[in-house]
Amino acid sequence: VRFNHFFSVVAMEQTFIAVKPDGVQRGLVGETVRRFEQKGFKLVAMKMVQASSAHLEEHYKDLKEKPFFSGLCTYMASGPVVAMVWEGSGVVAMGRMLLGETKPQDSLPGTLRGDFCINVGRNIVHGSDSVESAKREIALWFKREEIVTWKSCTHDWLYE
Ligand code: GDP
Ligand code: MG
Repeated sequence: VRFNHFFSVVAMEQTFIAVKPDGVQRGLVGETVRRFEQKGFKLVAMKMVQASSAHLEEHYKDLKEKPFFSGLCTYMASGPVVAMVWEGSGVVAMGRMLLGETKPQDSLPGTLRGDFCINVGRNIVHGSDSVESAKREIALWFKREEIVTWKSCTHDWLYE
């Protein structure tokens, strides 16, 4: 929570966004970063990771009963992912809007999944689905000291 000069309150959230192995291979790291940057969100952590199966099974533990679970974990371990934390007011819900729907075929043009992929099993990006899951996922993927606290020079032009 930040207080500006006039004591209005801007409630900041953080979300976990990852470019999946297909997104990395297809050269969509920059495009993903660009869309979050141009919206006004603030990047507070980013790294490339070759995730282990155990780490991915933990990340997707809510889906472990699904028939696609093992394929999902194999896909996610098939190459490096680019893991990020983005910060801003409403960034969790807006992050999901920037990504599009889980199924690319339901995703509108203008969203990452609507613009750049076809298949639910190769949907290029991940985004936390709630503030609670964002907290869990950020803690799973990043150490505390990897999250950077900084003030963007755009802050006071983005928030009243
Ligand atoms: P998300 O939050 O939009 O990523 O969707 P979910 O949390 O429901 O599922 C996690 C990921 O599992 C999705 O992004 C897809 O990569 C994959 N997935 C979801 N549903 C299916 C499915 O029906 N088939 C396959 N092959 N993969 C799926
Ligand atoms: Mg999900």
